[in-house]
Amino acid sequence: MRMMRFLAILSFASTVVPAARAASPDTSPWVPREIAPGVHMLEIPPDYYAAAISNVGVIEQADGFVIVDSGMSAGHGRAIVGYVRSLAADKPIKAVVITHWHNDHPQGISAIRDAFPKVRIIATAQTKAGMLGPEVGSLAGLTPSREVDEAARKEAGVAQEQIDKILADPDLPEDRRARLIRSRQQWGELAESWPGTYIVPPTETFARQLDIPDREHPVSIRFLGRANTAGDAVIWLPRQKVVFSGDIVVSPIPFGFYSYPKDWVKTLGRIEKLGFVTLVPGHGAPQNDTRYIGQLIGSIEDIRAQVGPLARKGMPLAEIRKNVDFTRFEAVFATSPRLKAGFAGLWIEPMVENAMKEALGTPIVQGEGEVQADPREKERKKGK
Ligand SMILES: [Zn+2]
Repeated sequence: MRMMRFLAILSFASTVVPAARAASPDTSPWVPREIAPGVHMLEIPPDYYAAAISNVGVIEQADGFVIVDSGMSAGHGRAIVGYVRSLAADKPIKAVVITHWHNDHPQGISAIRDAFPKVRIIATAQTKAGMLGPEVGSLAGLTPSREVDEAARKEAGVAQEQIDKILADPDLPEDRRARLIRSRQQWGELAESWPGTYIVPPTETFARQLDIPDREHPVSIRFLGRANTAGDAVIWLPRQKVVFSGDIVVSPIPFGFYSYPKDWVKTLGRIEKLGFVTLVPGHGAPQNDTRYIGQLIGSIEDIRAQVGPLARKGMPLAEIRKNVDFTRFEAVFATSPRLKAGFAGLWIEPMVENAMKEALGTPIVQGEGEVQADPREKERKKGK
């Protein structure tokens, strides 16, 4: 049975700040933000505590909208359609760019295509291969499926049960209780948004660059090298100097699963060189300088420098994990107890494995590794 295996652990990536924000029913789970005239993002707010769901880019061209990523579910796709119609009732979505295959980025497309059947769906060839290859095992599947809908509902139910157990503690601090109640509700909303979710493969792919011209808002879709996945697309708006990085940049804690440490550093350098004014990360708030990119590069280099020599000496992965010390960068990224709880699982553990494979010349295969985003997946594989 296919599962949304990214969900539970990634939810730690949310920060502790409870924002005083009224949820917009039209764009839930996102909050819209105009980052330049005609350039919007649908942002996952810091007080979203259920699964990790991608930010979305909305770029208005003269003859239609270009969308960057689409969320995790059919309901998310419908929210994007609703938002676009609120901006310009008669303008179609002409293209959706999928930055990479992880399930929280492509799974809203079916609903967008239902509303705009001629929509172009664009990704790198690697991302398309991923959506049709072994990785698809952790995606929703290529057709609507009641089995998948049911699995999603169950998984949300498990998360809610865990929350209920914690809520039963009468001594729970009030702020934590409020967060948990909010999280419980968001898991319910995610499950409700799910029925009918399936994957629509890209209708066109590119190798290096694909441009969508426009007088005011030209869009340049680039592959700048492997990073978070084998085929991350970067969306560059040369006139507004806005870049949508996908999960090459994720804050406040980066995600490290099945990634390519050495290439990632180079790719981050190429993003830096674009000279952006605003960077919209795959998850997290927009950025206006290269400080966070510098921290990411620093952490990846630190992991490579510590893991590489041990791996080349023949040390097994479990031993390497005991012989490295990443407290320096934990202090940089994990600035709260909640973030600290997610830092090792989301970043250090997968990145140590990636760095070891890289040092030994072992291929890093998308969707395959000792570290699973959801530890329950490993147990299922063991047949427990
Ligand atoms: Zn993501």
